[in-house]
Amino acid sequence: MQPGISIVDRVRYTSWGVRGVYGVLLLISGLSIDTLVQAVLIRWQRKTWFISPSNLDPLYELGTSLGFWGMLFFCINCVLATRWLWVERLFGGLDVVYRMHAFVGKSTFIMLVLHLMVLIAQALADTDRLVAYLIPGLDLSYTLGMLGLFGLVALVVITLWGSMPYQLWLTSHAWLGVPYLLGGAHALVAQADWYIALLTGIGGVAWIYSIALYRRYAPHARGQIAERTTQHGITELRIALDTPLAAVAGQFVFFAVSKSQAAIPAELHPFSLSAIESPRDVRLSIKMLGDYTRQLDQLAPGDAVTLYGPYGMFGRRMPATQRQLWIAGGIGITPFLSLLQQASHDTEITLVWAVRTRADARYIDELTQRASQRTGISVHLHEGPLSLADIEAYAGPLCTQTQQVLLCAPIPLMRQLRVGLRARGFAAHQIDSEEFGLR
Ligand SMILES: Cc1cc2nc3c(=O)[nH]c(=O)nc-3n(C[C@H](O)[C@H](O)[C@H](O)COP(=O)(O)OP(=O)(O)OC[C@H]3O[C@@H](n4cnc5c(N)ncnc54)[C@H](O)[C@@H]3O)c2cc1C
Repeated sequence: MQPGISIVDRVRYTSWGVRGVYGVLLLISGLSIDTLVQAVLIRWQRKTWFISPSNLDPLYELGTSLGFWGMLFFCINCVLATRWLWVERLFGGLDVVYRMHAFVGKSTFIMLVLHLMVLIAQALADTDRLVAYLIPGLDLSYTLGMLGLFGLVALVVITLWGSMPYQLWLTSHAWLGVPYLLGGAHALVAQADWYIALLTGIGGVAWIYSIALYRRYAPHARGQIAERTTQHGITELRIALDTPLAAVAGQFVFFAVSKSQAAIPAELHPFSLSAIESPRDVRLSIKMLGDYTRQLDQLAPGDAVTLYGPYGMFGRRMPATQRQLWIAGGIGITPFLSLLQQASHDTEITLVWAVRTRADARYIDELTQRASQRTGISVHLHEGPLSLADIEAYAGPLCTQTQQVLLCAPIPLMRQLRVGLRARGFAAHQIDSEEFGLR
């Protein structure tokens, strides 16, 4: 553990959603260990490792309860994928929700694979049961379970293929609801209990909402492109909204083109709001990085767009201190542009912006102009790789007592700076970051 960071501090700054997930995991681990110990003791006393399968056999209990816990976690993950605002609030930001989603997903996978393995181990002496488990078509419940588990394994293997194009990955990921429903049907046929029906129902509704109903029912604001400029690989979109967007500085939206002369796919992509002039007048600044973003320079005034959200709690996860250090890398400047627009007068802000070359610093004039309008704000442009030593040269010695750090930069730079800051004694909750990736 880092010096000066107590467990109490860690718990205090952990959101209720994260605490809940870890709590359930702790419960599962405790009960599983207890069942395993019982299985070993019973078999030790009976002097045999193979005892007849019975519902009182702890190993059987362990196998079936792993199935239940796996389905519970699967259900939680379907809910985490919905982007419901109450879920975001519970976890303290959509980025935290997605991090938990990845963690819960891995735990689900491990529990469901173990569910099958433990039951197979328990049934080793009982050939009929083993055959019923493994050969599809002999037993409806086991067949559904097997199909679900194989579907899950196949989709997880695809998900692990890191270089897969994002939209393809997203589509394959969305199909995970099918194994979920097969698993629910398996459990319902095996054990028609109300709580299994409830679990399957909640996860099923959440999944259908995510894949089919999100665009209709998620909070959104429609509007038109008021102005589009493209310079140095950045497309800036000024959007006039028909309905107000209740966004605050530092938040992001999922952007979709609804109607345009250019054939731009109707995909959803997250972008931070780089300016909020009013709830009906916002700006996005988009780096032309990949297939989708490179097409956005074809947008023209009047093209219809939709903004879903707003999401994110960047800069609002902790009470503001008097001194803040903002570190941006490249296009990671976008949330800071709106944060600076709405910055509190009580906070002293030092912004260090690292860019590859000065040509990439499209917003430096806007930043320096804003800084000149208020005391207590200093803006520093840094060209080339950025280190903590560089930051100290601009901001003065880092002080863990009074300072908070906000980070938005390419992921490797953020990780490097985070490690450096933690080594200097900054607690995790003193460093808030926004990652431009939700995979
Ligand atoms: C919270 C957040 C805020 C962001 N704010 C900005 C911003 O203000 N300006 C800006 O230029 N970029 C921003 N991004 C990054 C932007 O979303 C991606 O660069 C863009 O979606 C890339 O799409 P592409 O198809 O052109 O590129 P690709 O080459 O297909 O994707 C590049 C990477 O972007 C990510 N990505 C792609 N599509 C999506 C998607 N639909 N949803 C989530 N991630 C995706 C993936 O990690 C992928 O590996 C933000 C991302 C997040 C998560």
